[in-house]
Amino acid sequence: MTDTQYQYIDGEWTDGDGNELVVRNPASPDETVVSFPAATGAQATRALAAADEASGAWGASTPDERETVLYDAADRVEANLDRLAETLTLEEGKPISSSRGEVARAAEILRFFASYTRTATGDTVPSTDPETFTYTVREPLGVVSLITPWNFPIATPTWKVAAALASGNAVVLKPSSETPTIAKRLVEILAAAGVPDGALSLVVGPGSTVGDELITDERVDGISFTGSTGTGTHISTTAAERGVPVQTEMGGKNPQVVLPDADIDAAADAAVAGAFGLTGQACTATSRLLVHEAVADRVTEAVVDRAESLSVGPGMADPDMGPAVSADQDETNFEYVSIAREEGATLLTGGGRPAEPESGYFIEPTVVTDVESSMRIAQEEVFGPVLSIIEVADFDEAIRVANDVAFGLSASVFTADMARWREFVDRIEAGVIKVNGTTSGSQIQMPFGGMKASSSETAKELGQRAYEFYTHEKSVYRTDP
Ligand code: NAP
Repeated sequence: MTDTQYQYIDGEWTDGDGNELVVRNPASPDETVVSFPAATGAQATRALAAADEASGAWGASTPDERETVLYDAADRVEANLDRLAETLTLEEGKPISSSRGEVARAAEILRFFASYTRTATGDTVPSTDPETFTYTVREPLGVVSLITPWNFPIATPTWKVAAALASGNAVVLKPSSETPTIAKRLVEILAAAGVPDGALSLVVGPGSTVGDELITDERVDGISFTGSTGTGTHISTTAAERGVPVQTEMGGKNPQVVLPDADIDAAADAAVAGAFGLTGQACTATSRLLVHEAVADRVTEAVVDRAESLSVGPGMADPDMGPAVSADQDETNFEYVSIAREEGATLLTGGGRPAEPESGYFIEPTVVTDVESSMRIAQEEVFGPVLSIIEVADFDEAIRVANDVAFGLSASVFTADMARWREFVDRIEAGVIKVNGTTSGSQIQMPFGGMKASSSETAKELGQRAYEFYTHEKSVYRTDP
């Protein structure tokens, strides 16, 4: 394999047949991290054909064979943690300590799904006929296409690939063109750990061509996608036409509600971690802070103080906040600051480029207030470090405003009142709910996914639900002769 061979098809590293793909360091955009030829749609088709060929044998492998491969891959990820974290930061930009945490999490995910190979089961179901034994079995879908974004460029591919391989599927992975090298390293590790040729392929290239093959080819038996709502909706519609199982996890506009009895310091810490951690580039990032008017001044002051104390800089220097991933995302961040101001919001802090560093896609942590729910800044996903504060008069208004968006991924409430947080859980339209915690983050054994425009709501990721998505269920009625 040479440094420019990013396509792994049927067990061979190969050059792409497409246009040159250039990845730049977002902390220093003049610096090219890597440049290589992208895959074409025809190469994606070849990868799917290889997966089709390999899926029977991999699907018939024993649980302990698959378990051994995934545990070995986890060990290799850990053994290479520093190198992988550096690769991740150079392409995506996040602080190196966050990258280390994400790589460690990838190892944890591999182990979690390795353990599933032995413990995942069907059900024994009571039979109404004493002569007949009724039970269910699960079997792999076959060939699955996995399409991932750039913001968790090792964790997201890992949680899809590990779940799909653990349950016996052959996989073709298409990572984001912004962060291909970390995906390449993951696939190298899985191949070295023993995933057979064809059972795992990697194709790196544009979604419009390579991605399109991966959703339309008739060999594809299942699709899992994470990314923007626009792309995800297109993919789930296309998959629905063929009746192929599809899972899409998409955008968010996540609210954090702060009620008068909340621990104000804890609420401010959570809002700042949720809004500015990972430069706001998390689908579960906090983008709306809904504060009861009785504590609005205190919460606002605490949030602004904390935002202003954050360091911003290149990920390799391990600041509190790194750059936006790309020129496009950088432009989007500044555009939304302008939109908010034009709509009448007040800029409390941030909104500009920090004095240092001199180049790179950096923006100061930004907080705007006097935001109304109808404004674009309160409705549209920025995917950057811009937090809107919306004052509410009471709990009912907080719920109404929190639900007054197209999205429904994550939501949090800060209160000491059990009746209130239980009512919040009942009434909030969100797939992930935190009580006295930040909207961002999840645990791998918990199902993960959203409601409304945040998700196809067909099947959640992670936890047992992931295993269920990647398998068919058969109901068996056995009557002895
Ligand atoms: P994106 O533009 O939708 O891209 C996601 C992936 O889809 C990339 O690999 C992309 O390829 C590919 N793609 C683009 N067009 C395609 C098509 N027509 N057919 C098949 N694949 C196609 O999203 P992004 O900018 O990478 O990621 C940011 C978004 O992801 C945000 O909206 C964020 O909220 C969301 N996200 C959601 C979750 C969640 O779990 N809910 C988690 C993380 C991120 P190329 O880019 O290489 O062309």
